[in-house]
Amino acid sequence: MRGLINEIYLDDLREKTHRGLAGQLARGGHAGGRAYGYRSVRDGDISRLEVVPEQAEVIRWIYTRYAEGWSCQRVAADLNARGVKSGFGGTWAVSALYGSPNKGSGVLNNELYIGRLIWNRSQYVKDPDTGKRTRIDRPRDEWHIEERPELQIVSHSLWLAVRERMARPTRQGGNAGKGARPRSLFGGLLKCGICGGAVVATSGRHYGCAARKDRGPAVCAGVQANRQKVDQRLLYAIREELLSPSAIAELQETVKEVLAARRREAAELAQAARARIAELDSEIARLVDAVATVGISPALTARLQQAEAERERVTAEQDSNVPGGAVIDALQRYRKLLADLEQSLSTDTDRAREILRRMIAPAEMVAREGQVFVEIETGRAAIAVGLSLGLVAGAGLEPATFGL
Ligand SMILES: [Zn+2]
Repeated sequence: MRGLINEIYLDDLREKTHRGLAGQLARGGHAGGRAYGYRSVRDGDISRLEVVPEQAEVIRWIYTRYAEGWSCQRVAADLNARGVKSGFGGTWAVSALYGSPNKGSGVLNNELYIGRLIWNRSQYVKDPDTGKRTRIDRPRDEWHIEERPELQIVSHSLWLAVRERMARPTRQGGNAGKGARPRSLFGGLLKCGICGGAVVATSGRHYGCAARKDRGPAVCAGVQANRQKVDQRLLYAIREELLSPSAIAELQETVKEVLAARRREAAELAQAARARIAELDSEIARLVDAVATVGISPALTARLQQAEAERERVTAEQDSNVPGGAVIDALQRYRKLLADLEQSLSTDTDRAREILRRMIAPAEMVAREGQVFVEIETGRAAIAVGLSLGLVAGAGLEPATFGL
């Protein structure tokens, strides 16, 4: 029922949005959403797009360089170095340039630059349950395409030159057949010590600052380190740290503390339960006496049943208050986590990453005196592991620095 109502609601909303846009477009307006290179101007009750000459220059420059064989990285870096602002006033990133040819996103794929206004490609609809806006892609035959020569910025030959380069295989300088890079172990788990952004696998051989890679040195000077070395040394350091006698001793200490606290708690609960059972026993005895003296009555029967039911419940609860095995096997689970890590390192990178993420959460990659370091608060590692075992571990270890 609820699903059906949602369906109807979404259809209705789509219909309304659609009609509103169609009306705007029929009168020469635009469908909302402003692309780089245009400004929106009010014209009576509709808004029209207008070319911004300086931005149109930038677009032609981007198309020309890309068609000549520049990489999107180089284009973005050059724009940022010259202080050219992107559409939202920020810096240029590769994604803003290349985007997705299928979705028509990214500067190099926007057909508006050849004067072709496409709308109804996708629509954002609001889910009435979650309030979230979701993008729905429409099939190509539902697209609405309009020619708007006054909005053309890039010549058809330049547009085609860019298409031609995109279709070329990667090794010939194009983007076709570019597969997803194999996942790296620590990419995204480290952050750049300069800009605080993500450190990712910038190539098959290196980890580096993502901002530096996508936006160029004008945005972040960046750090870079050999992937193989980082993987090896960081894993070594993590193993050493987690299996060090002091880490094990600390974990054991914590387990002992938690166990002791649970036992104390259980003892208190048991004592309270015993006291309550004694009370109930004497109450039941009094009630039985009363029945013997004055005979059975509905009120006495009800009270007796109530007291007996509570006695049963308290007794059952008392048995379940005995400390269980959950904490006792914490050390075993700790060892298992490490064993899992060892095993998944060679077989399942995603699983290994997940384990590592919990262990090293905020590790920073910093460059200092010509060296790159990854800084991890080892106390954190103990906390992260502790939490994953359901323990709250206090940690006060010194931060450790591992040279790379
Ligand atoms: Zn950075």
